[in-house]
Amino acid sequence: ATPTAIMVGTSLGAKRGILFKNAIALEQAAALDTVVFDKTGTLTRGEPEVVDVATADGIDEDEVLRLVAGAEGDSEHPLARAIVEAARSRGLQPPRTDAFEAVPGHGLLATVDGRRVLVGNARLLEAHGISRDGLAARSEEMAGAGRTSVEVAVGDRAAAVIAIADAPRETSAEAIRALREQGVRAVMLSGDSQATARRIAARLGIDEVIAEVLPADKAAKIRELQSAPSARRVAMVGDGVNDAPALAQADVGIAIGAGTDVAVETADVVLMRSDPLDVATAITISRGTRRKMH
Ligand code: ADP
Ligand code: MG
Repeated sequence: ATPTAIMVGTSLGAKRGILFKNAIALEQAAALDTVVFDKTGTLTRGEPEVVDVATADGIDEDEVLRLVAGAEGDSEHPLARAIVEAARSRGLQPPRTDAFEAVPGHGLLATVDGRRVLVGNARLLEAHGISRDGLAARSEEMAGAGRTSVEVAVGDRAAAVIAIADAPRETSAEAIRALREQGVRAVMLSGDSQATARRIAARLGIDEVIAEVLPADKAAKIRELQSAPSARRVAMVGDGVNDAPALAQADVGIAIGAGTDVAVETADVVLMRSDPLDVATAITISRGTRRKMH
């Protein structure tokens, strides 16, 4: 594009809080055929809340929530904050954690009040040989409703499932429709379970879902889409620290402005208003800039 077209495109974007950090991004956004969205904090608000607790026979709900809040006290995960807040609002005093180990993409292990506590997804419990028999049905029911189901084992027993809801951003569904009208396909990328991710995707009109992806594997998923035979031109939209490698791998990396510094620094485009609809607007601006190039 001509320098004038670049200047016009950049300033049009800036007026809408869409910051193109370089001319290449402004030009490449026109050629995108795929936009991959991180789920949590990008399509959803990233303000998870505990909405339900189901316990195994003989397990007290408040007691298990207290233990889990203790275990999550040292975690920086958004789900941890939701659980700690739920315990606080019930007036529970979380005990101190004696040992804590985060398992990326799965959850955590901790020793709380002298008891071993596992908190995370089904794979975490399975990996530790814990039978989910008593709680699997409840967990699947929660996931089918679009909740993140956090499973809890105390000692070597499945003790509870905690349902956590994170509402979609107001314009997420509209953003997916706008992209479709531009001929651009939307994909959801998430570390959450298939069932949870698919339910939320369906609600937003997204039919392509890549779920249960470990943080370290997000960039490889972008590379797969870019590679033959699909050879797609891919933007990645994310907010989190663990989205940064995927943002860097994408043809155009787009950070939600309210996201982490690392994501904002790595991205080619920053959406200051944290509005998913601005992804479609960025493409419109880019296409306009391109047309002025010939
Ligand atoms: P996301 O793609 O939403 O950022 P993560 O890769 O961080 O997801 O985590 C994937 C899954 O692992 C979560 O959906 C959750 O089931 C589980 N998990 C990870 N960390 C925690 C935690 N601190 N407490 C409970 N569950 C966790
Ligand atoms: Mg996220």
